[in-house]
Amino acid sequence: MAIERTLSIIKPDGVQKNLIGEIFGRFEKAGLKIVGAKMVHLSKAQAEGFYAVHSERPFFNDLVSYMTSGPVVVSALEGEDAVALHRKLLGATNPAEADAGTVRADFAESIEENIGHGSDATETAAQEIEYFFGSDGVCARTR
Ligand code: ATP
Ligand code: MG
Repeated sequence: MAIERTLSIIKPDGVQKNLIGEIFGRFEKAGLKIVGAKMVHLSKAQAEGFYAVHSERPFFNDLVSYMTSGPVVVSALEGEDAVALHRKLLGATNPAEADAGTVRADFAESIEENIGHGSDATETAAQEIEYFFGSDGVCARTR
C-alpha cells in the first residue's frame, strides 16, 4: 500500500449538526493525517464546478442547492491507502446501505444529505485538492 492523499468535505448538514470534531476524530483515529483544512461557504459556481461530473444527473440542481446551503469544511487527508480508507469510514453513498459504524450510517439523513464527500481515486483526489487548495497548497507533515 502507498501513502496517498484524498479530499474530504464535511457537507453543510455535517457542519450544521456540529459534527466537525467527531468526524475529524474518526479520521485521525483511523491513522489519517489532516494536511489542509478550511471552512468555506461554496458559491453556486464552486459547487457546480466541483460536481461537474454529475451535471447531467437529475439530482444535480438539488445537489448544488444543498452544497451551497451553508458552510462546509474542506480538508486534505494523508495516509496509507487514504482514498479507500476515507471512503470506507464515510460508508456507502446511501446511508440506508452504509455499514454500521460509518459516518453516513450514524449521521446521514438521505442519499443526498449524506454528511461527507470523499474522492473516489488518487487522480480525482489530486484534481480536487488542487481545486480547493491550489493557491495555498497543503502542508508536508513530517511529524
Ligand atoms: P461524494 O462524491 O459526495 O463523495 P459518492 O462518491 O458516494 O459521494 P456520487 O455518486 O459521487 O457519490 O454522488 C455525489 C453526491 O450526489 C452524493 O454524495 C449525494 O450527495 C448526491 N447524490 C448521489 N446520488 C443521488 C441520488 N440518487 N439522489 C440525490 N442525490 C444523490
Ligand atoms: Mg463521488
